[in-house]
Amino acid sequence: MDEPERQMRIKREPAIQVKTQAQLDVMREAGLVVAHTLSALAAAAKPGVTTADLDAIAEQQIWDAGATPSFKGYHGFPATICTSVNEEIVHGIPSPAKRLRPGDLISIDCGAIVRGWHADAALTVGVGEITDEHRGLLAACERALWQGLAQARPGRRLSDISHAVERSARGAGTYGIVEEYVGHGIGTEMHMDPAVPNYGRPGRGPLLSAGMALAVEPMLVLGARHTRLLDDEWTVVSADGTPSAHFEHTVAITADGPWVLTAEDGGQAGLAAVAEPVSSGAHSNSGGG
Ligand code: MG
Ligand code: MG
Repeated sequence: MDEPERQMRIKREPAIQVKTQAQLDVMREAGLVVAHTLSALAAAAKPGVTTADLDAIAEQQIWDAGATPSFKGYHGFPATICTSVNEEIVHGIPSPAKRLRPGDLISIDCGAIVRGWHADAALTVGVGEITDEHRGLLAACERALWQGLAQARPGRRLSDISHAVERSARGAGTYGIVEEYVGHGIGTEMHMDPAVPNYGRPGRGPLLSAGMALAVEPMLVLGARHTRLLDDEWTVVSADGTPSAHFEHTVAITADGPWVLTAEDGGQAGLAAVAEPVSSGAHSNSGGG
């Protein structure tokens, strides 16, 4: 193709890094470090624990695993993990002054690097007993993530993931779907092309192919989707002050389907759960032609 045509093509379709199997295997190592760290943090998020305590656990565990925390120092971020409590949606900064209380929701976001390759994941857990309404919010966000991940296969288009996330979240209730912050490509850097929105029409954007890796990360708010940035210039909160949830996984697109690098079982259980029909009208999406 001639130069102007080539440039237009580049503008329309961001280049997506394609990894070899050996490179994905290293990303899987990073993914398992993140998975193990997040499960330790989820277990440690009890009433009385501070978000700085959680950060210390994460930093120690990542270094002990022979990996490097990717958030610390990223654009000046001061900690190993992001801890976002209740109305905080993402990018909250751990603090010794922030002590968890029963009924809180805490979102923990964690990234690690192994030999130059990144993995990134997040989850939200309840501290002690939480309300049914909050449990519903967490379940809706996690299910939306897995519905999106299920679309991460060769032959689908990028927005098939976005659409599946949105459709699942809208089907679960009247939750606000955050639009200002989105998922992303991942590999030799944490944030790479393409952006992966959590909403949109299916069948659009770049064609997915084996060797690509994406971080899919829906953020749902119990109230409206609008956000506000706090004065620390990191912490994103819901504008209406209602609590939120954030679930994220790094997924590799392979000839055999989605390989969820940050799930201990590679995603088998999570993908199987969303493959089961939830009503008689449910069907599997045959993908964006
Ligand atoms: Mg993350
Ligand atoms: Mg991410």
